[in-house]
Amino acid sequence: MWKCPKCLREFKNIQQSHFCGQIISIDDYIADQAQEIRQLLQAIRNTIHANAPHAVEKISWQMPTFWQKENLIHFAAFKNHIGLYPGGEATSVFSDRLIGYKTSKGAIQFPLDKPIDYDLISDIVRWRVEQVNKK
Ligand SMILES: [Zn+2]
Repeated sequence: MWKCPKCLREFKNIQQSHFCGQIISIDDYIADQAQEIRQLLQAIRNTIHANAPHAVEKISWQMPTFWQKENLIHFAAFKNHIGLYPGGEATSVFSDRLIGYKTSKGAIQFPLDKPIDYDLISDIVRWRVEQVNKK
């Protein structure tokens, strides 16, 4: 274990490159991830933006979050997958298209060794926007 003397976060590797500070924006969050998945996270962010153009970015629950009247969707990077958190009902509404994915209530795992289904993400985001607009 190595503890960064500046931000005091702990890492497995000595001198691990990371965003050294408090993560307060999605840019910070992406900058803090491994190089190989930064582009992927940026593409997911762009997909969410394209389908929720009025949503505002923030960090909530330490995750990139899009907010429009409420938290629309979060995503987060893990070692072997990207987690997408569109709320509790999404996994049942989209169950037909989630066969083969690991899911739990309100969470979908996109494994990093498979191409990301951006169409599915787009449809989930549009569905979430419709949902909040009905409120
Ligand atoms: Zn640091």
